[in-house]
Amino acid sequence: MEAVRKSIHLFDLDDTLIRTEARVLVRDAHGSLLRALAPAEFTVYRPGPGEAFDFREFSDLGILSRGIVVKYTKTIIDTILRYGTRSEFGILTARADKKLHAPFLIRLFRSLFGVRLSNELIFAVSDQRFSGYKDRGAAARGQEPPIPFSKLSVSQRKALVIAEDLVGRGFNDISFYDDSRENLESFKVMRQAFPHVVYKPHFIDPTWKARLGEFWESGSESKPLIKGANSVRIILEHHCAAGADPVILRGLAEGGPIRLDTVPVWVVCEEGKFYLRRSIVEADRDPRIPGIP
Ligand SMILES: [Mg+2]
Repeated sequence: MEAVRKSIHLFDLDDTLIRTEARVLVRDAHGSLLRALAPAEFTVYRPGPGEAFDFREFSDLGILSRGIVVKYTKTIIDTILRYGTRSEFGILTARADKKLHAPFLIRLFRSLFGVRLSNELIFAVSDQRFSGYKDRGAAARGQEPPIPFSKLSVSQRKALVIAEDLVGRGFNDISFYDDSRENLESFKVMRQAFPHVVYKPHFIDPTWKARLGEFWESGSESKPLIKGANSVRIILEHHCAAGADPVILRGLAEGGPIRLDTVPVWVVCEEGKFYLRRSIVEADRDPRIPGIP
């Protein structure tokens, strides 16, 4: 018998759905301020001995509501809705204090998308009440967890929420949108335990900054741009002084490679397909474009 499809689009908050000026503060054992981390930095930061996170800037609802909705992600949600969907929507954030955030997020989804976001599908994995609930749940099942929920990494906590709170409630088609590769990969690790679940991770990188950096660091010669002209437009808009001008795009499609300004990477078009290239054959080089020094 085929299982009923139960799907959800799950969104990270910081730098996926909204961007804010708020910073996570890092303090030493005496409470002195060591550094202030942007949300993206926070997701990968490993605290040193004696260091503690201070989330006070995120407790200010004013700061949260002054956050800017990431246009790239808004477009994704608009597109999902345009094609009609019976999916649920949910939030999976590293932030604490769900009570503070949930009313704002419910209002945001209603006013911006006309979507009813259900309170029970908003997960704030640094919320102390939520940690307590997770640990009591494990204890009730007779599993005394060797590591309490709050001591797991953000990625591990997110993966556990997907497994227990979504798959556990019957979701079997899960799209997860996050600007952290680590968060997206984390559920993949335990995916074999849930062979019936379709899991679709979506890396949110609105300007292609992270992916261009990854390509450059990978050392590989070429990377196909799967989404073709859509990706090319975003890349040129953010990494080429001339932008995504129609004349430039036409020149590219006719075989003239373009060198980006922010990373020493070329965009080329071959037989109608677009690629990133580390280098190009000399004959292909457009004499109007200065070469790599
Ligand atoms: Mg994020």
